[in-house]
Amino acid sequence: TEQTLILVKPDGVARGLSGEILRRIEAKGYRVTGLRMLTPTRELLAAHYEEHEGKPFYEPLIEFMSSGPVVAVRAEGERVIEGFRSIAGATDPTVAAPGTIRGDLGRDWGLAVQQNLVHGSDSTLSAERELGLWFS
Ligand code: ATP
Repeated sequence: TEQTLILVKPDGVARGLSGEILRRIEAKGYRVTGLRMLTPTRELLAAHYEEHEGKPFYEPLIEFMSSGPVVAVRAEGERVIEGFRSIAGATDPTVAAPGTIRGDLGRDWGLAVQQNLVHGSDSTLSAERELGLWFS
């Protein structure tokens, strides 16, 4: 079966939504096989977000993601990568569908970066790479 990296971002942890987000992952039937809470270093985040280097939201993104604790989750299940992205909803929480994590719990705060509660790997290749970074 497939594995993915899920992050409850600092906004999710600060708002006390880690439990609700883990609940949704487990309620869907995915297995949580790893769990860590940490405040990520800029170095870890630079590796994690290397594909976004140079984009206008890159610096605000690193700043935001290193601003406080995140919960890193290794989740497992049939098609969990696609499945979690579906549960998470669209990147922009204003238009993310109701029923999704971002659609139900998130909104735009008018900041330079979308504080959109969660991250989920987007392919088997990035899942493998990201799990290596967060669960080495
Ligand atoms: P994630 O990878 O975090 O699950 P995603 O795949 O929907 O989200 P990416 O395009 O990989 O989004 O961007 C990574 C993160 O950078 C987003 O989750 C969001 O926090 C931020 N971001 C992306 N695009 C923008 C944008 N245009 N303006 C502000 N912030 C953005």
